[in-house]
Amino acid sequence: MNVKPSHLFYQGRERKPVLDQARGVYMWDVDGKRYLDGSSGAMVCNIGHSNENVLDAMRRQMEKSTFGYRLHFETEASEKLAAKTAALCPEGLNRVFFVSGGSEAVESALKLARQYALAIGEGSRWKIISRAPSYHGCTLGALAITSYAPLTDPFAPMMQAMPKIPAPRAYLDGLDADKEATGHHYADMLEAKIIEEGPESVLAFVVEPIGGASTGALVPPRGYMERVQEICRKYGVLFILDEVMTGAGRTGKFLASEHWNLAPDIIVMSKGFAAGYVPLGAMVAHERLVEPVLDAGGFLHGFTYAGNPLACAAGLAVIDEIERMDLVGNAARMGDRLQERLRGLMQRYAIIGDVRGKGLLTAFEFMADRGTKAPLPKGLRAFDRFVQIAYEKGLIVYARRTRDGVEGDHIIVAPPMIVTETHLDEITEMLDASLA
Ligand code: PMP
Repeated sequence: MNVKPSHLFYQGRERKPVLDQARGVYMWDVDGKRYLDGSSGAMVCNIGHSNENVLDAMRRQMEKSTFGYRLHFETEASEKLAAKTAALCPEGLNRVFFVSGGSEAVESALKLARQYALAIGEGSRWKIISRAPSYHGCTLGALAITSYAPLTDPFAPMMQAMPKIPAPRAYLDGLDADKEATGHHYADMLEAKIIEEGPESVLAFVVEPIGGASTGALVPPRGYMERVQEICRKYGVLFILDEVMTGAGRTGKFLASEHWNLAPDIIVMSKGFAAGYVPLGAMVAHERLVEPVLDAGGFLHGFTYAGNPLACAAGLAVIDEIERMDLVGNAARMGDRLQERLRGLMQRYAIIGDVRGKGLLTAFEFMADRGTKAPLPKGLRAFDRFVQIAYEKGLIVYARRTRDGVEGDHIIVAPPMIVTETHLDEITEMLDASLA
């Protein structure tokens, strides 16, 4: 491993292998060691690495133009991608605002929501309710609605405190996630919170339909999503879905919200939307929200690099590839098989206390005791150790802490949506050897 001093500092001092090439589900470092990308980076490279059709589309666009400032030019690529994106979203969500990443998409949603409230004469609404734990991004606005202690606590004085409700974690509370009463039990906490805050002050509710980094692929209990949507409608609170991780096919539907036929006011996407080929994200809003904002003088927000033709051409090619290869269907099929395999490992390793997920967003959680759901001791950092062992064996996985970021080690397994049964065999073998 390379231990030369570096000018880079992304996190700690530990140096990582130097990436050389990536193809399909595999990546190679400069020493020729091969890795299976079992987490698609951070659930990003949904269609696999170095897809030739996407690279061709990017080359063609590069030969024409790589940048046109969005306030100076329309581009064919951004128009086409916006139309395609709108067609894949629920009815009415047909106004698309491009950005360069997930945090930017979330910020944009919060600011559109606020400008909409002002435009319709409801300026008293500004509070955004979200859940604990949750992850919505690292910029201060997105962080204010995030709840993950190590990432949020140091910055608390710099942020407007926003109300939170507990994310449903039926498995920890000893409730049956298949029962509608469980979903309603948690959803009703949203209604209580809106009433407590004063409905006229509440602007929006933001939720990850299936938890990502925060809860480790945790699927909400039956009835939860439908009920929170209903409660939002009842109080005129905007319903915003953060599909940054779940969007673009990862959970076995193009949007996770399709699992419950939801009709949100705003959806945000990034990660798999451009599948790692370019920085790209999108905020897709209902026309009902956008029109009053435009009438009132325009949307006062934007990022310089947003919507550039190269990013949009890549994004469009990514969606074409997802459709051409039916990767959404493959994510559903392979996801079921991957979960079966993880359950098999759970039978053999007592340290695995829970297996969960939907499509190819799957995870398992380490526990000290499966019966009591007691987490491993905080100081143990078993999630780091596991990732390191898997890495040495040539498997990349994504680990975080489920319980507010301080304990509850979960490992997300989310390979590119092009995986085959043979790749799943390989992943399972390396997980097995790492667990052993
Ligand atoms: N929302 C969710 C649900 C995410 O998972 C992430 C990234 N992990 C973000 C927002 C922020 O995206 P980015 O890192 O691209 O800014």
